[in-house]
Amino acid sequence: MLHVASERPTPIQFLGDFEGNLLYIKRDDLLPFSFGGNKARKACYFLDDFRRGEYDCIVTYGSGHSNHCRVIANMAAMEGVPCEIISPQEQVEYTFNRQLSDLFGATRTIVSVNDVHRAIENKMTQLSEKGLRPYFIPGGGHGNLGSQAYFDCFREIRGFEQSQGLSFDYVFFATGTGTTHAGLVCGQLVMGGSERIIGISVARSADRGKQIVLGSAIEYLSARNCEFSSGDVEASIHFVDDYLSGGYAAESHSIKEEIRSVLSTYGIPLDPVYTGKAFWGMRMFIRKHSVVDCNVLFIHTGGTPLFFDQLQSERQMHVQ
Ligand SMILES: *Cc1c(COP(=O)(O)O)cnc(C)c1O
Repeated sequence: MLHVASERPTPIQFLGDFEGNLLYIKRDDLLPFSFGGNKARKACYFLDDFRRGEYDCIVTYGSGHSNHCRVIANMAAMEGVPCEIISPQEQVEYTFNRQLSDLFGATRTIVSVNDVHRAIENKMTQLSEKGLRPYFIPGGGHGNLGSQAYFDCFREIRGFEQSQGLSFDYVFFATGTGTTHAGLVCGQLVMGGSERIIGISVARSADRGKQIVLGSAIEYLSARNCEFSSGDVEASIHFVDDYLSGGYAAESHSIKEEIRSVLSTYGIPLDPVYTGKAFWGMRMFIRKHSVVDCNVLFIHTGGTPLFFDQLQSERQMHVQ
């Protein structure tokens, strides 16, 4: 498995009425590799690139709760090559993603946040000096290959619209490094369309977040030799930071309530760091801007192990 052009698009389910609109959900959490999610979608493209070269180990970067590191560690295990993860020093519990990366045999080097860049370079040099050929994957699956993954996801969305004879007015999802966002926006620029693509930020402020999405989109478009003015690209980016509620790993009652309600109503798990926050943010956005009678798509970007971290932490509260 793990073919780049996934033979089948991930499902889009109709969930029914949502605040006076029709809500659909694209289940990237069901991508058939390592618990799915956007990091699995991106990883397929990195895997293809890895296999094209003569590489024999993988180096990447991410925190202890990172979905990306779990997926990449799984990919390395599947390829039978060592995986080196550089992680920033932080106060996080032993999360399921961390546990899974360990299970896959990944080696972790923990450094202070300011030393991450240097640590990656050192690791790459050390491995090369040992006669290995390390393949580097940016944190979160950032870069043109990651953007390509969500450019292709946008094509899947278009295909669905055409087959169903409908068009989405809004597309919502959780945005972090902005690669998912950049890929979707580039898809819209190249393939056309007028839906509003709205990234609900999980950590970054709108100013900075938007600049990074813009940078990634321009980099991707110029690699494809597509001519767009930076103003046109910028006008397509809607980066919303109104629903951060404290950044990564924020504990918010409203988000927990949203997660409980979505699971009870539809049987779909969300997590507090990304998808739960974005789903709740989408609801708040729709209320704030009085969006009604629209076709709305939510992209479920995965993170299922984080759902269980949340469950586990509530269980510990009960045990005490
Ligand atoms: C990483 C991640 C995101 C954010 O994706 P970016 O491409 O980094 O913006 C959203 N949801 C989940 C579950 C993630 O793991």
